[in-house]
Amino acid sequence: MSFSQLTHLECGRCGAEHDSEQPQNLCKACGSPLLARYDLAAVRDSVSPGDFALRSPDLWRYHELLPVRSPQAVTTLGEGLTPLLPMARYGERIGLPRLLMKDEGLIPTGSFKARGAAVGVSRAAELGIERLAMPTNGNAGAAWALYGARAGLATTIVMPVDAPEITRRECVASGADLHLVDGLISDAGRIVGELIAASGGRVFDTSTLKEPYRIEGKKTMGIEIVEQLGWRMPDVILYPTGGGVGLIGIHKALNELRELGWISGPLPRLVAVQAEGCAPIVRAFEAGEQESRFWEGSRTVAFGINVPKPLGDFLILKALAETSGTAVTVTDGELLDELRQVAALEGTWVCPEGAAAFAAARKLRASGWIGADEQVVVLNTGAGLKYPATVPVDAPVLPVDGHLV
Ligand SMILES: *Cc1c(COP(=O)(O)O)cnc(C)c1O
Ligand SMILES: [Zn+2]
Repeated sequence: MSFSQLTHLECGRCGAEHDSEQPQNLCKACGSPLLARYDLAAVRDSVSPGDFALRSPDLWRYHELLPVRSPQAVTTLGEGLTPLLPMARYGERIGLPRLLMKDEGLIPTGSFKARGAAVGVSRAAELGIERLAMPTNGNAGAAWALYGARAGLATTIVMPVDAPEITRRECVASGADLHLVDGLISDAGRIVGELIAASGGRVFDTSTLKEPYRIEGKKTMGIEIVEQLGWRMPDVILYPTGGGVGLIGIHKALNELRELGWISGPLPRLVAVQAEGCAPIVRAFEAGEQESRFWEGSRTVAFGINVPKPLGDFLILKALAETSGTAVTVTDGELLDELRQVAALEGTWVCPEGAAAFAAARKLRASGWIGADEQVVVLNTGAGLKYPATVPVDAPVLPVDGHLV
């Protein structure tokens, strides 16, 4: 029985096949992201849904549907199987009593980027890669630096100077080669691109969707949601969308599970949530376009979704179209306000990106796009603890002999 049933890589745009047994970046024919393909008949023959519950409580329980060939190559910090929490009180307040939160705040490195890093780093090491480089808005760089350290890989990380400070410290703690740029992730991307080109193949590019395995790690959120609901799908999933890897990954996972015959019926309506200050996907969706255009002057406190031109935009828009989903914006003011309400009503301090998805759930319920009886899952993609500045403190300081009465 094979640990992985990976067969090959396939271009997400033109379908060209690529060899999965050597390092690959974009499609050699058209420059689009590559997607991992599996022998699903072999998966179906070797495992059934009930088996997973008996396995390790992390994302590696789905190893047949992941690209790492050997269990010895797995680099793990215990990522995955995060809680799917009922949000009854807050849900009642916004008119969605069946609201659930998939809480990725409880994962190593404090954001769901750990899933992509665990699988991407493991596969890179298995393929003999020794040095990685990537641009990041913070969380991905932190996760790849820390998982890279665990796997013994060298990492070069380039991030905007105003990315969340904690992510910078995570890179330094891991011993990564960290550089800051006075610009956006797109500027960091150009700098990394030059390094890769000059390295003569010695540095591997792990930019978002420029290597095929990060998405495989992130797709496990979709499998987990289904497993946690007893091999059923919810009606709607809301996802704070930057590069869109998680949304593309969840869509890919649900299609694989449906092809396996482990779930049936229509897929959940997927919702791409963006900030009003950076909404290339929403703009393209509303115009009925199949690709996005670069969003000039992008700006939002939800740093993880500040991506002016996602490389996988066409895959995001396809996932929305195929699931009868939608795309919506929220303002920074709305998401910061929502963050406080979620914490005060549920005791969960979510990240600003997660708060954006909650604000979108409220809006879509108010507009009637989501019905009151629907089961809705909001992805909270990171821990609120990573963003202390979202909650200013103005508590009075008592004198040492002070009293409250
Ligand atoms: C990266 C990130 C996102 C966006 O993820 P994509 O898969 O790139 O769309 C959302 N939230 C947080 C906290 C992130 O770090
Ligand atoms: Zn192609």
